[in-house]
Amino acid sequence: QTIGRNLKSTVEKYPHQEALICVHQNYRATYQEFYNQTTAVAKALLFLGAKSGDRVGIWSANRYEWVLLQYATARIGTILVNINPAYRTHELTYVLNQSEIRFLFSSLNFKTSNYKEMVEYAKEVCPALEHEIFFDENWDDFVNKGQDISDEVLHSFEEHVQFDDPVNIQYTSGTTGFPKGVTLSHHNILNNGYFIGIRLKYTEKDRVCIPVPFYHCFGMVIGNICCTAHGACMVIPNDSFDPDITLKTVSDERCTSLYGVPTMFIAELAVKDFDTYDFSSLRTGVMAGSVCPPEIMKKVETLMNIKEMSICYGMTETSPVSTQTLIGTSLEKQVSTVGIVQDHLEIKIIDESGKILQRGEHGELCTRGYSVMLKYWNDPENTKKVLDDARWMHTGDMAVMDNEGYITISGRIKDLIIRGGENISPKEIEDFLYTYPHILDVQIIGVPSEKFGEEVMAWVKVRKGFTITEEELVEYCKGKIAHYKVPKYWKFVDEFPMTISGKIRKVEMREISMRELG
Ligand code: ATP
Ligand code: MG
Repeated sequence: QTIGRNLKSTVEKYPHQEALICVHQNYRATYQEFYNQTTAVAKALLFLGAKSGDRVGIWSANRYEWVLLQYATARIGTILVNINPAYRTHELTYVLNQSEIRFLFSSLNFKTSNYKEMVEYAKEVCPALEHEIFFDENWDDFVNKGQDISDEVLHSFEEHVQFDDPVNIQYTSGTTGFPKGVTLSHHNILNNGYFIGIRLKYTEKDRVCIPVPFYHCFGMVIGNICCTAHGACMVIPNDSFDPDITLKTVSDERCTSLYGVPTMFIAELAVKDFDTYDFSSLRTGVMAGSVCPPEIMKKVETLMNIKEMSICYGMTETSPVSTQTLIGTSLEKQVSTVGIVQDHLEIKIIDESGKILQRGEHGELCTRGYSVMLKYWNDPENTKKVLDDARWMHTGDMAVMDNEGYITISGRIKDLIIRGGENISPKEIEDFLYTYPHILDVQIIGVPSEKFGEEVMAWVKVRKGFTITEEELVEYCKGKIAHYKVPKYWKFVDEFPMTISGKIRKVEMREISMRELG
């Protein structure tokens, strides 16, 4: 199937169910209304001369037009390119040129930045770019022009879309380096979204609160594609993440499911008026994107009434989800693992030589199947580095599988700390330190050391109104974790350096720490 045909069948089943709510824009649409609006947008693109395979860029925070474009572009066989709204001219022009974007959609301003100025600059250095449309300027004109395109013309485009055509180029989060343009097909993301929803037991009754950005696969696949494949409603609280607004939306819109990366849940748990919100409608949710601390999981389950939280693990290159917990998984497995392999996919854990490891042994996780990307766009060299001849995707993540097939991710191979020949997993120390009462959030990195190669360093966020000293933390560690795991350096901070998708940039933490430590 294709995304367009799948949406159509959902609309036929549930025309009057709500499809999309954007709280900050006061926008609501049923599946039938939503479908009709994607028709208008698709026709407008055809009016401007869009052809199958053309790249359509969207450089914007979450808003309902984003979702309309996502489905309109898929219906006519064009390729949507998600552009991170935090990008500025250097990254924007890179993406525009790298994927040769013909149409670019954006808002005039976002927060304090003038996007129009930046687009005007980009136009001069990006020869492929022909049309720029701004949601808050000429969007309505753009949509209205499509009226002259007939249904027959639209259908002739829709008919030609194949399930294995590329539908999307998503740039990776850029956590570890410069973002790569992951090219995904209808088959890749539609299947992934569908099977994620199966594990969450989604039906047309579900209302899913999506505070994560659309430009990232968490928002557009685990969020949107998963919802439309099951007839669920996408509920968008705001253009960018705000913990108070998210909780208010869950409460007001009676959401049944809530998404977030761990840092978002941490921020929500710390909201001042937490007790005033009504979580009684919540049933499930997804926590993913980076290592999920067990202490936070437990709190979310008890304080937010999410009895059936699902942990997902994956990466942009795999649509994204490769492993996921099943609803009903014991709390112990839920808090300590990322679940079992997603339906109809394969995974294996290998050592440096490529040999498959036994259960219980740590190595690199590899995955294969329908979710694995077609390629990095226009980048055969990097594609070859991660996708081998047998189409196994090498994730760069360290993992271990237990006897029942449950996977635990211990972090990125690049983040592993090697101190005096001892391999140290930052996650293990982070999980331990989370048990200290006044620690709000903690991240562990390795910093260079002449004596040991690397030393352990902790960055700590302290709960508001409390103070913690280095000495008491060292004292707390003593006798509980091995001496070489006790952080040598401690840094107390208000924020960690983050990507806009909410991931902590350990690369930047290391750079800052190295400068400070000299
Ligand atoms: P880049 O590839 O540009 O450096 P990135 O890897 O962060 O950025 P994404 O594709 O958004 O880009 O993220 C995928 C990575 O996120 C995975 O490889 C893994 O390291 C991490 N990750 C995702 N989910 C989980 C999880 N549940 N537990 C631990 N790590 C996770
Ligand atoms: Mg990556």
